[in-house]
Formats: sequence, structure tokens, C-alpha cells
Amino acid sequence: MKQSQNVLTREKELEKLKERIQQIKKKRPGYGEMLDFYQKVEETQQSIKAFLKMKPIKFKKEWKELLAKEGFSLIQKEDFPLDTETSTKLFATLCQIGKDSNPHMAEQVRKIKEAIDNKRIDLKKLLSKGMKAEKIKKVADEFGLDAKVFLFLIQGCTRPSIESGMEQLRSQLDPENWLKGYCPMCGSLPSLSLLKGEEGKRYLLCSYCGYQWRIDRLICPFCNNKEQQFLQYFCGEGEDAYRIDLCDKCQQYIKTIDDRTLEELDPVLEDLATLHLDILASQKGYKRPIPNFWTA
Ligand SMILES: [Zn+2]
Ligand SMILES: [Zn+2]
Repeated sequence: MKQSQNVLTREKELEKLKERIQQIKKKRPGYGEMLDFYQKVEETQQSIKAFLKMKPIKFKKEWKELLAKEGFSLIQKEDFPLDTETSTKLFATLCQIGKDSNPHMAEQVRKIKEAIDNKRIDLKKLLSKGMKAEKIKKVADEFGLDAKVFLFLIQGCTRPSIESGMEQLRSQLDPENWLKGYCPMCGSLPSLSLLKGEEGKRYLLCSYCGYQWRIDRLICPFCNNKEQQFLQYFCGEGEDAYRIDLCDKCQQYIKTIDDRTLEELDPVLEDLATLHLDILASQKGYKRPIPNFWTA
């Protein structure tokens, strides 16, 4: 029963996603190709979730003590269990989607496949070692690959496992009282910030595991600057639901999406649909610490 309900929810979510993508395409036709790509990736990742075989995480009480006392995240990135088999299959599907989407991706996929077929890249081993971005970039450099594409494929194929691990541990954390700039679940930096509820409480979205936690409205999550004269923001024209929060202390920014005007949004999709704001922020000289696949 639970399984079929999950499938139903997923199907509904996908329908909503498709509708929203059509809306955005009408408004910004230039994003069409990228959004089609995102839709295919999302469909594939969602459909594979039903087949995931996940090991339960053996929760230890000390983890919570360390979190409270030392501010350590509950687990480390590499501690998330991984369904390697499903991830490997998903990797192949994502490669195919990439290949069909544009010539650059096709060339990258060809090189990656060659290295895997020649056993010069051991995909399973790479996946099992924890998906540290630095490690993946190193391998990409070694094989003359576009690190962004490689990182996207690796992270994309492990995302369903990571998110399922995060769901297992969700009840161990209180999202309302952490208030720090890094994820209480896995220690990663946020990719986006969200305003929710009537009062517009602010939350951060983990770039790695997808967990969301509360943070103050006026703080830079990257350098903890709270001095208002160093914090400013701008919105796109006629786009009050999206804003870029700039910090003049660290010259970095985070995109904030107002959940109150967009019901049940997919933050990652909304992020993609507002790349023009990232371009503006970058022209102003600010950096985005956690870029999405299409920025930076
Ligand atoms: Zn996280
Ligand atoms: Zn800052």
C-alpha cells in the first residue's frame, strides 16, 4: 500500500513539475533546452526511487550529543549509505540523457565511457568513496574531462540514495533551532535560501542531502555576517518571489526564493529558471559558493 501511494505522489509531483516547466518556458523560451534536460533528469531520478535498496543507518546517540555540544553535523557526506547498483544504472541513464541533449555533453560522455570501459575509472569504487567534489574534480582533471559534467553525473546518480538516507535521519533533527550556515545533517553548505509561512521564516536548502533548516532573516550563511550595512539584496524586475542576498563582507551571495508566492515549488527548478539573476550578481562582482550545474 505504502509503495503504491508513494508512486502516486511521485506521479502527481511530476505532473506539477511538467506544468511549471511549461509556464516558465512560455515566459522565458531561452531556458527551454535546459528545462527539458532538467525534466528528463528529474523523471529518471524519481522513477528509480521505487527500486532503491537502502541499508538502514545505524543511528548512534553520540552523534546527537556532538551536534549539540560541538556543532558537528549528524553525519559526514561519506557516511550516507549508497545503493551502488542502482546508482550505477542511473549513471548510465544520465549519460544517455546527456548524450542526447547537446554535443558538448555527448563528447564528455564518450570520454567518460571510454575511461570506464578501459577500467581506468572504477565507477563503483569512486561512488563508494563518498562523493567529495575535490576528489571528483581530481579524477576529471586526470582524464581531461569537464569537471562540471562529471560532477553532475556522479552527484546526479547518487542523489536518490543520499536523499533517502537524509529521510531516514530526518526525525533526529529539529530544523527550527540549528540556525547555522551549514547543514546539521551532513555539514554541507546551502545552495539556496527559502522564505516560508506567513511570517516568511527563512530556511536554507542543503546542496548535498536536500535537508532544510531554519536561519535568521538577516545573516550571511557563508561568513555569518549580521551587520546590516554589509547585507543587501536585489530582485529581478517583476520577480518579487526571487531575490539575491548579497554580502559585502565575503563578496558572496545566496539566491532566496519566496515560497509564499509559489505554491509547492521545486526550489532547484526555480533556481534554474532565474539564472539571469545569477548573471547579474556575478556582474556586480559577487560569487556563488555552491553553483548549480548551469551557473559558474
Ligand atoms: Zn545536508
Ligand atoms: Zn558573507
